[in-house]
Amino acid sequence: MPELPEVEVIRQGLAPHLKGLKIIAIRCSEKPLRTPVPYNEMRGELLGQTITAVHRRAKYLIVRMDSDAAIIIHLGMTGNMGIFAKNSDPQKHDHVYWELDNGTELRFNDTRRFGAVRLLEAGSRKTLEKQFFAATGPEPFSRSCSARYLNKRAASRKIAIKKFIMDSHVIAGVGNIYANESLFRSKIHPDRAAASLSAKEWQRLLEVIRKTLKDAIECGGSTISDFVDASGRGGYFQINFQVYGRAGRTCAICGETIIKKNIGGRASFICPGCQKQP
Ligand SMILES: [Zn+2]
Repeated sequence: MPELPEVEVIRQGLAPHLKGLKIIAIRCSEKPLRTPVPYNEMRGELLGQTITAVHRRAKYLIVRMDSDAAIIIHLGMTGNMGIFAKNSDPQKHDHVYWELDNGTELRFNDTRRFGAVRLLEAGSRKTLEKQFFAATGPEPFSRSCSARYLNKRAASRKIAIKKFIMDSHVIAGVGNIYANESLFRSKIHPDRAAASLSAKEWQRLLEVIRKTLKDAIECGGSTISDFVDASGRGGYFQINFQVYGRAGRTCAICGETIIKKNIGGRASFICPGCQKQP
C-alpha cells in the first residue's frame, strides 16, 4: 500500500509533466473505484483548465487548476499514476485518463480499485479542501508536528505506540511499513503504551520518523506490492528495511532473530534484542 514516501515520489515525478498543461479531454473505464468518479462534473469543471500545481497532503495527491478547481486522488491499495503518449495502448486496470494539450495523458491505474478520485469545484475549493482534511493530523515534516505536540496528544493514551503513530488524526502519512521501521530504529517496542514515552523518546522517535520517510523518498519509494513511481521505475528502499518483512532473519544491530507479531490487526516486526518488551 503506498505510504507517504510513495505518494511524494509520484508527486515529484508527475509535477514537471503536468504544470502549465491544459486538460482537453477526460475519459474513463466503466469500472467504479472505491467511490464513484465524478466524470460529468470533472468534464464541466476541468476541460480547458491549465494545471498549476501538484501537491500532496497525507497520502493524497492534489492537482490544482488555474480556475482554483482541484482533483484529490487517493491511491488506495494498488493505485498508481503515470504519464503516457496519448496514442499508446491502455494498460489493464487503467481507469481514468486526463488528456493534455501536448499529446500526452495522465492515467490512473488501479488493480484492486480501492483508490478514489474527487473533484473540488472552483467556487468552493478552499472550503471543501479544508473540510476534507479537517480531521487529518499535521504533516510529519511540518513545524506543527513537534515532539511536544506528539507527547501532548499521547498523554494518558494506553493505545500501543505503533497504532498511535499510524493514526492519521495524530500524524499524517505514517503507515505500517514506516511505523515498523521507525520504532525499530528508535529501539522502542511497538506494544508500549503511547503515554509511556518520555519527552526525550518522542524527540528521538520524531527525528527517526522524518529520517526514515526522507530516506524512502530519496530512494524513490519502496516497492512493496504493485507500486511503481510515475516514471514506471521501481524504488529500491526495500533493500534498506531493517525489520519490515524480515521475520526469522537476524537483526543487523544485535544479532537477535526478528519476530513477527500482530498488533492491532497489522503485521509488526520486532527485534527482541533492540526493542525491549514493556
Ligand atoms: Zn536487534
